[in-house]
This record gives sequence, C-alpha cells and structure tokens, in this order.
Amino acid sequence: MNQTNTQLSTAQWQHLDSRHHLHPFTDYKALKKKGSRIIVRAEGVYLWDSDGNRILDAMAGLWCVNIGYGRVELARVASEQMQQLPYYNNFFQTTHPPGVALSQKLAAITQPHLNHVFFTCSGSEANDTVVRMVRRYWALLGHPEKQVIISRHNAYHGSTIAAATLGGMQPMHEQSVVLLPGVEHIMQPYWYADGGELSAEEFGIKAAHALAERIDAVGSHKVAAFIAEPIQGAGGVIIPPRSYWPEIKKICAQHEILLIADEVICGFGRTGKWFGSDYYDLRPDLMPIAKGLSSGYLPIGGVMVGDKVAETIVEKGGEFAHGFTYSGHPVAAAVAAENINIMQRENIVDRVDQEIAPYFKGKWSQLADHPLVGEARSLGLLGALELVKDKTSREFYPAQLEVGNRCRDICIDNGLVMRAVGDKMVVSPPLIISKEQIDELVELAAKCLDLTQQTLA
Ligand SMILES: *Cc1c(COP(=O)(O)O)cnc(C)c1O
Repeated sequence: MNQTNTQLSTAQWQHLDSRHHLHPFTDYKALKKKGSRIIVRAEGVYLWDSDGNRILDAMAGLWCVNIGYGRVELARVASEQMQQLPYYNNFFQTTHPPGVALSQKLAAITQPHLNHVFFTCSGSEANDTVVRMVRRYWALLGHPEKQVIISRHNAYHGSTIAAATLGGMQPMHEQSVVLLPGVEHIMQPYWYADGGELSAEEFGIKAAHALAERIDAVGSHKVAAFIAEPIQGAGGVIIPPRSYWPEIKKICAQHEILLIADEVICGFGRTGKWFGSDYYDLRPDLMPIAKGLSSGYLPIGGVMVGDKVAETIVEKGGEFAHGFTYSGHPVAAAVAAENINIMQRENIVDRVDQEIAPYFKGKWSQLADHPLVGEARSLGLLGALELVKDKTSREFYPAQLEVGNRCRDICIDNGLVMRAVGDKMVVSPPLIISKEQIDELVELAAKCLDLTQQTLA
C-alpha cells in the first residue's frame, strides 16, 4: 500500500492506525474498538475530518494553536529557513541567526528581569531543564543541600520522568516506575471541589499556606523552589482565588526559594496578557514556555531564566552539562519568531484582553444556568464547566458514569472539540476566534450539555 497516499478511506486509515500506531495518553483496547477520528486539514478555528465533517476546535489543538490554523506566513518562513540552513546546533560555541533573534525577541516580550532563554523541544524538556538549573544554581551558591522542589497535586508539567514527577497526576506517578527524588506535592487551589464552607478568598489563603507549612516540614535550608502553573490547565482549568498568588509570592520571598511559573499554557496571550505571570504580577525566577511559543506549528520550548539565576550559572559555573540536539532548532526558532511577529502585528494579546475574553466570559458564564453545570468559570480564553449532580451541594456524579467523557464524545460528534478532565469540560480556543465563532461554540456546548443530560435521565 502506498504510505503517502492521502486518499485512503476512513476505515483504511483507522485500520492502519490501530495496527501500527501507539497514541499518547490512550487506552489502546478502547480505541481499537472505536477507531480513531482522522483529522485531515484545518483553517482558522476549524478542523475537518476524513469524512468531511467540520469541527470547531475549542481546544486549539492541545492548548497551543494560539494564532489559528492555516497561517501561510509560517509555512513560508519555515520553507525559506530550511533552504538557507535547515539545521545547525548551538553546542560547542556556535549559533545561528534564528536562535539569536528568537532569544532577543523573547527577552523583549517577557518581564524586564527575564533576559535569557535555554531552548528545548517541548514543555516537558523545559521542566527537566528547570530541575537541573535550580539544583545547579543552589550548588554554585554553596547550598548543594537545597534540592527539594515543591509542586502541587493535580499539576501538569509534562511527561518525561522528571516532568511527570513534578506534576501531580496520580496515574502518571503510578506508571512511572521510579520518580525523581526530592519532589513534594501540596494541595491545589481548587475551590469548587475542595473549598467546602470557606469563601474562595479564605480558601486561597489556606491553599497558599500549605506551601509555608511544607517548607517548614522539609526545612527551608533544603527547599530549592516552588513550581506551579499560574492557572492549572490539564488539571481542569483551575483558576486560583485572587488571594492565592500574592500569598504564594510572599512565602517564596520570605523563605528565599525560587519561584518557577510554568507558562506552557498560560504564555503567549492565553490570559489576555503576554504571560500568566504578567496577569498575576508574579516575578518568576524561571519560566518554562512551549505550546503557544510556535502556536504548535513546530515543536519548540524553552526556559526563560531570570537575571539572578542566569548571572550565577554564567559567572560562577563552568560547563552546564545539559542540552538537546535540537535546542534552538533554526527552523522551529524562525517559525516561533514569526508567530510572535504575527501576534504583535495583529495586536492579538490586547484584542483578547479588551474585546474577546470579556465577550467570551459573558457568553460562557450563561452556561451556568444549565441544570448540569455547577460552575462556568473563565479567565482570558481558558474556560471550564463543572458538571454536577446537585448544583447547591456541589455534588458530582459517580465517577463510573463518566459524565465528562460522555459529554466530550457527544461534542465531537456534533462538531465541537471540548476536552473532559474528569467531570470538568474545558476549552482553550485559538486566540483569533471571532465573536460569531464564540456564539457558535457556546451554542454547540449548550446543545451537547442537553444531549449529555438526556443520557443521564
Ligand atoms: C503541555 C504542558 C507541558 C508539557 O509540554 P510538552 O510539550 O507536551 O512536553 C508542561 N507544562 C504545562 C503547564 C503543560 O500544559
């Protein structure tokens, strides 16, 4: 069979897929029974599958296609760079213009104290890099015993062993065989499920104080850093109470531990600011980035490194023994730089902040009137719905009913990608989504909630 033939039937693609392809985060037996959906093209906020169905992609791929699909400028830049210099490395005292230009650009759009970047190919590798970098930083300062990194339950930081350890996803920990030593997890600021009788603001303070308590329990002389997503993405778009981040900032400063803001989802305009750290006024020492950095057009990630850490590893260190063959890959770097150019040229971040996120919030919050929806929260272009059995008591359906997955399957069959995280439905649409398309998204979501509810009657 001709492997490059794109004219195969859906059934033929599904057959080959199930014979040869092991998908990420997938129950293989279940997928084999059902067959994959084959996505063949995309434009703007829409996908098309191999049966010709148009699907509104309210997840921007995996939280990454911030400037939307079908940007020919990025294809042109990639093609030109591939012809000029398809590959060269940044090891051994060499570099290339796209790597340098992107570094400079990132220094310009991030906070003033973030002036250096270490490139990786993904968010997971960025978080592996973070582990190495913070431990090296403290060792160079004469504190090699400062090794512990504190993270949170239900955090997502990627899928390498180090990143999965940093994350707080139980199934990943159970399957990891070994976890990295020296990582601790504290409670997450998830008021809807865990807040009980406390107000959101009281609960935010309580969740932040869990950090101070753990630092005391471990001993602050052993704690290197705290890592967190400004808003948890894969954990279910968990937007912390307003009281949370100011308290966390204070605790990190008091105990002299580094603050790592994992911006892999929140970065590049998702919150209506360039970075989640700008939205919450954090001053992170390290800032992992990926996803929206290239709008997903090519794999690239990195760690923005604050002056304090950069000066130490530059001035006090010898060789930093870490790096990837494709760190700062010239084609990926050129595409990422053009992606940022487009965001600037089209004023995409301000448009989200001033116009699109407020419009989205207005429409999305109306879904809270639906009988299945206990809460409809959003910030920027991140949204979540809590699907519940009882709105007043915030009681969830039994897990085995898989209400979230039911809703997700109904959504895709009705032309909408909305992701399920347990019984939370989450969205993260391309930032270029129009008001009409937001109307369409919310109408489709409402229809699919009705259909989901019918299956529970
Ligand atoms: C997706 C994600 C990662 C991992 O990025 P990959 O490119 O999949 O390795 C890390 N952190 C956060 C917050 C993410 O959402």
